[in-house]
Amino acid sequence: MQLSRFGEKFAGNSGISGLMEDLGAALSDDPSLLFMGGGNPGRIDSVQAAFSDRLSAIAGDPEQRHELLGVYQAPQGDRGFREELARFLQREYGWSVGPENIALANGSQSAFFVLYNLFAGEASDGSSRQIHLPLSPEYVGYRDIGLSENFFSATKPRIERLDQGQFKYHVDFEALQLPETVAALCVSRPSNPTGNVVSDSEVAELDRLAKDRGIPLIIDGAYGQPFPALIDESATAFWNDNSVLMLSLSKLGLPGVRSGIVVASPKIAQAFSRANTVVSLACGTLGPQLLRGSFDDGSLLQLCRQQIQPYYRERRELAVRAVEAGRGDLPVWIHKPEGAFFLWLWCENLPIDSFALYQRLKQRGVIVLPGNDFFIGSEDHWPHSRECLRISYAGDRQTIEAGIALIMEELHKIYATA
Ligand code: PLP
Repeated sequence: MQLSRFGEKFAGNSGISGLMEDLGAALSDDPSLLFMGGGNPGRIDSVQAAFSDRLSAIAGDPEQRHELLGVYQAPQGDRGFREELARFLQREYGWSVGPENIALANGSQSAFFVLYNLFAGEASDGSSRQIHLPLSPEYVGYRDIGLSENFFSATKPRIERLDQGQFKYHVDFEALQLPETVAALCVSRPSNPTGNVVSDSEVAELDRLAKDRGIPLIIDGAYGQPFPALIDESATAFWNDNSVLMLSLSKLGLPGVRSGIVVASPKIAQAFSRANTVVSLACGTLGPQLLRGSFDDGSLLQLCRQQIQPYYRERRELAVRAVEAGRGDLPVWIHKPEGAFFLWLWCENLPIDSFALYQRLKQRGVIVLPGNDFFIGSEDHWPHSRECLRISYAGDRQTIEAGIALIMEELHKIYATA
């Protein structure tokens, strides 16, 4: 098979798809493995029941059913949905947005592919432009997304050690050197993988830097505000017309629906939807249909506050307690869990690297994600980048407790034999 350069890059067994295949193979060989590796949201029966009622209502109404199954959406996505969301964003946050500021996508992952490649890569003046990640580790799904090489640059975080064996990353503004060729800044807020939340003042400073350079600040809000808002309450939702807010329906419990939302200036929203039309023709109708009406009547926020957020709060406390109970005197630090649904462990001076740790844990029956791959654009020779582990606490209680107990047991062995 003779592949193009695109084919070689995207069909190749790149770091993350190799890891995902390895993980999938391990699970199909042994379905009893304790799975704490993926980005799947938790299974919350009351949330599934609410969406299932909505789905039945749509299916039972000939007009809505036809809209769901039988019609292509307009390029920027269902106008009624965009109008309702814009009204909600104005009401809730005072943002000056209309439907022209909103574009829909088939999942935010594919939206990132289009958006990032709109800005970074080969420019018409011959320069090669990058997306800069001001705080790496970042979401591993960005890693292989660029159509060209050297697609990302990044700044390592400043580490603050906190009480009770926790630590926290901060944007290191002293080290943050934006290359001449920077095309956009991007942070996930809250962060996948670390659960960190870039503070309001850090966002304000990033916004200032982006405006000075005339580039957009992209905020990946897959877990953040306005929904599902798995984020520390002290964080203020952020958007202005120099920024792009990327939203997803997935972490509401709807990853199968593949629905993402871009909130941006009309110019960016339009550029995005033109490019997205080339790739996808139109967006799926299910996501917008399921959420229709739930911004206006407040039921979406209610679902988040009453069902989704308490679920993850409880799981997070359980996970933290399990690490605290198992780590003893090991130098294992928990990143302060401020959002999303992951614990990010820093195993300081870990005698093996985190990929080897992932493999040992898989042998023991628990799947997590090794931290290495998340240090996008900042891998070089930083020992910290080989000492971290991402653990999802979205699953059931038994998996969380048994999985973390196994991880701690294995870590004790590894440190003891070093
Ligand atoms: N951004 C972050 C931070 C994520 O964790 C994910 C998925 O896990 C995505 C974007 C992509 O989500 P989706 O394509 O399901 O909208």
